[in-house]
Amino acid sequence: MLNVDEAQLLTEIKKAAIKNAVEYGKAQESAVSGKVLSKAPELKNDMSKLHKLVSTIVNEVNSMGKVELESEYKKYEVEFTSESKEKKEKTAKPKLELKDIKGTFITRFPPEPNGYLQIGHAKAVLMEQTFARKYNGSIILYFDDTNPEKEEQRFVDAIKEDLKWLGVTFDKEYYASDNIGLLYKYAETMIREGNAYVCMCDAEKMRSGRADGYGCVHKTHTTERNLELWGTMLSRELDEGTATLRLNGDMSAENTMMRDPTLFRIKYSTHYRQGDKYAIWPTYNFNTPVNDSLNGVTDAIRSKEFELEDELYFKILDMLQLRKPRIHTIARLEIKNNLTSKRKINELIREKYISGYDDPRLVTITALKRRGILPGAIKEFALRFGMSKTNSKVSIDMLLAENRKLIDKNSKRLSCVEEPMELIVNDIPESEKNKRVKLHPLADIGYKKYNLNSVFFINTTDASNLKIGDTVRLKGAFSVRVTGVTKDGMTGNFAGDEMGPAIQWINKGDEVACKLLRIGDLLINDKFNKDSLSVTNCYVEGYSKSLENGEVVQFERIGFFKLDDKSTMSFLSL
Ligand SMILES: [Zn+2]
Repeated sequence: MLNVDEAQLLTEIKKAAIKNAVEYGKAQESAVSGKVLSKAPELKNDMSKLHKLVSTIVNEVNSMGKVELESEYKKYEVEFTSESKEKKEKTAKPKLELKDIKGTFITRFPPEPNGYLQIGHAKAVLMEQTFARKYNGSIILYFDDTNPEKEEQRFVDAIKEDLKWLGVTFDKEYYASDNIGLLYKYAETMIREGNAYVCMCDAEKMRSGRADGYGCVHKTHTTERNLELWGTMLSRELDEGTATLRLNGDMSAENTMMRDPTLFRIKYSTHYRQGDKYAIWPTYNFNTPVNDSLNGVTDAIRSKEFELEDELYFKILDMLQLRKPRIHTIARLEIKNNLTSKRKINELIREKYISGYDDPRLVTITALKRRGILPGAIKEFALRFGMSKTNSKVSIDMLLAENRKLIDKNSKRLSCVEEPMELIVNDIPESEKNKRVKLHPLADIGYKKYNLNSVFFINTTDASNLKIGDTVRLKGAFSVRVTGVTKDGMTGNFAGDEMGPAIQWINKGDEVACKLLRIGDLLINDKFNKDSLSVTNCYVEGYSKSLENGEVVQFERIGFFKLDDKSTMSFLSL
């Protein structure tokens, strides 16, 4: 079933074990398996076979003398050096630099409080923070909140909470909606100078005019007429949708953004922050350049989908004779087989496919937090793409790998048995019944203690590889020689320290029924993946009862999991 041929596989395991032994004094099974799997991921389909081979070879290498080990290492030295060079190149951090930065540096993060932050926002804000630090500058939190019917205070609160969790702090905070009065003055200037006009066309007429490149009859109104109409807009004499203030641009411009975009529109909805104070609301296109300029922003970072809007941004500032910030474009960060569109997420929630914005299959910040991804991992992941402008969809595995590097350091190691069957061990000496096992191979985070009886749960798959006469090691305890195999279980005799592959076990009576929730891709071919969350019932050792909600553990040979709900003992895969 494996693509790798057996001889080649044995060589790869041996190489990894030798390198690991030379580097760390002793080869570790988990490190060697990890290395081999990174080269041949298809081996995941037969972990027990891999495990057996690794265990045997690691024992062999660990029993070599120093001289023998060094001479073995020499055989592969050239390969080792080129591999580590390749790895260095692959993991080299991109330079995070902006061009021509001299003097003051002020940037901003501009969320709209109409939803939750997702991984793409995290990339932008973490880059902005990095630059603010690098150039001894500052970073502003700017709420772009001029769509009263869509925005809510709860989103402001959620955004702030997520940003705090990500470790981003701001030097200043402001809201576009706090500045509306001033924006009206700029609008009037635009009208007086012939740079804006009031259009009374309906949405469809505006759309077709833009598509065909023709201006409407309102474009030729006199300044006086425009000022008069603008006055009736401000005094709430017109209905929603009957008038807008538009830029007097170029209706045949190649960049369709320049074809007289809307600058202000009528909206009578109550605003979460300003109440009913305003009925004429500026658009993003007008807000952003004016507020950036007025608030001292020197450098704005935008993702590539806004590139067409740059021309408009600068045009408005030119017309108002306001200082122009620099704009730096970066690629948008998107995750393969996942989505961030609010409309589509809401659809999945409505259909009850997912539980909400914190469903652990999503890549919203609140979902990543719930899943057990650390802010440090998000930062490493988000910044690795540097200033590249190439949009690409990236696998979530890259983020999970960054996260594992962090959680590996102090996650408790626990035993988990997925398809339990019984192994009865005879003749266990009294002295072997009380065991104390470290919770982490390296970190000093305590012990788990056992008072063993003679019945153990082991994995059915592990058992299926054993026959009478084989010796198997109950990891952290002792070895057992198999004496009998039936369809219901196995029997064996205590075999002290005899060599054999190590397997996971749980002593009968110490088992806790748990659920492992494995998270897969949310989408397959852009459709909801009905198998995106699979649940396995299993046994975890009794120590798990002392875990706290939210704690991350490693189930040995299975992987990292986060305790999501202690009342049901449900763990989420990491
Ligand atoms: Zn018109």
